[in-house]
Amino acid sequence: TQQIRIGITGYGNLGRGVEAALQQSPDMRLVGVFSRREPASVQLLDTSVPVYAIDEVTAYQDEIDVMILCGGSKADLPEQGPYMAGLFNTVDSYDTHAQIPEYYNSVDKPARESGHVYLLCAGWDPGLFSINRLVGEAILPVGETYTFWGKGLSQGHSDAVRRVPGVKAGVQYTIPSTDAIERVRSGALPELSTKEKHVRECYVVLEEGADADQVRQAIVTMPAYFADYDTTVHFIDENTLANEHSAMPHGGFVIRSGKSALDNDQVMEFSLKLNSNPEFTASVLVAYARAVHRLSRLSDIGAKTVFDIAPGLLSPKSPAQLRKELL
Ligand code: NDP
Repeated sequence: TQQIRIGITGYGNLGRGVEAALQQSPDMRLVGVFSRREPASVQLLDTSVPVYAIDEVTAYQDEIDVMILCGGSKADLPEQGPYMAGLFNTVDSYDTHAQIPEYYNSVDKPARESGHVYLLCAGWDPGLFSINRLVGEAILPVGETYTFWGKGLSQGHSDAVRRVPGVKAGVQYTIPSTDAIERVRSGALPELSTKEKHVRECYVVLEEGADADQVRQAIVTMPAYFADYDTTVHFIDENTLANEHSAMPHGGFVIRSGKSALDNDQVMEFSLKLNSNPEFTASVLVAYARAVHRLSRLSDIGAKTVFDIAPGLLSPKSPAQLRKELL
């Protein structure tokens, strides 16, 4: 069988992650990377495949089976998604939860008109977490679903810490509250606000002469970002920051706690502990690219989400092999 030919649009953390993930998928082959950057800087991108300006993408329609979009959800995908939907079978990791219905419509129309499959919101949240929320609710209709995020590096909160006078550099992690998780796991069905579910931890490098107590006070009382949370501030030196805090960890838990019909407590739990958020998200995108290729071969068209994809389509193994080995 022929390899599935993949294109990458956008070469940031996720784009590099997709290139790496393809190395573990011998049934797929990377054709090239498409980027918006100036031709001069595009040629400097550190990749082993050809890099093209995004304006050239129409010339590669016959050479790419699935395009994986790796741009940001805020500004890149709302523009690139509908455009690519008219040209390629496409996968993206759009994660602006509140805008998903509008975004779905914006890619569905061009995908249908051009006869392509467009899978949006593949990743872990939205993505694998969404599937687990759906399965939990369908199987235990009487109960509650809880999503906890972390331990994860939060870009917005790290920026807020860095804006505090006296702070030279720093990062912020959002961490699920162990206490809240244990209450959920016990089947107690607690009512938890976002603030009760998570604690915040900051690692800060001080500017020379800055007062540690003042900086800590300014951080933990910052409205909207930290004031309502249980926040811990650790002071470290620049080397420690570089050595121990440059990875992009993330993860979390989806827990469905409910009662089955004869009043027994039942708890379902799915969790992720990721050392690299973009590398993992990229691995999800690659598995879904395989599914999109297969659906397209079956003459399916239009926008899809992870809810529409049968699990067997993600695997390189045949249905018979899957029944024998994994059922
Ligand atoms: P980046 O900021 O690293 O990259 C986004 C885009 O910015 C790239 O595609 C690239 O486009 C451009 N870019 C990147 N680096 C540079 C640079 N040095 N100079 C100029 N331009 C640059 O974002 P990530 O890859 O980390 O994340 C992308 C998106 O993935 C996020 O916005 C988020 O929405 C989504 N995501 C979804 C998850 C999920 O579970 N669903 C989980 C994690 C992320 P170009 O090459 O065209 O310039």
